[in-house]
Amino acid sequence: MSELYEKYDIKESVVQKWAEKTYPQFLGNPSLLAQLYLRQVKKVTLDPSSITIMRGKQVLINELKEGEWCIIEGVVATKMRENAYSGCPVCMKKIEGEYCPTDGKVVPTTHRWIEYVVGDNSGDVIVSFPPRIANTMGDITGQILQIRGVLGDQGSFL
Ligand SMILES: [Zn+2]
Repeated sequence: MSELYEKYDIKESVVQKWAEKTYPQFLGNPSLLAQLYLRQVKKVTLDPSSITIMRGKQVLINELKEGEWCIIEGVVATKMRENAYSGCPVCMKKIEGEYCPTDGKVVPTTHRWIEYVVGDNSGDVIVSFPPRIANTMGDITGQILQIRGVLGDQGSFL
């Protein structure tokens, strides 16, 4: 079971009951449900370092292959770049003015993509954090993270 239940003093039975209505297709993944429940019901912004990713193949950074989903574990060394844009608060797409083609009239919010250099003993790679994570993320320099993602054709991991 995920340590998030203990850390944040939430009951698995309560989370399961909530998830039966909201995420019935993911009932088999208590760690994922805890993250969703904390964010959406308890309004807790999780520290990325408190999240343990359970599944997937862990590889060294110099073993990353383009297009293959996997997990890396590394230390966040340097913030490289931050791109901010005005977007839809629902679907996160970039929009002009207050109209989203998917969601209609919305109040635009500022979304951010943030890139960090993450390295392990074998090498380093630029990791792009998308707005869903980056919008609420503080400075994570120096933290050791397990990150699930895929190496894209631009050479960055996201
Ligand atoms: Zn939208």
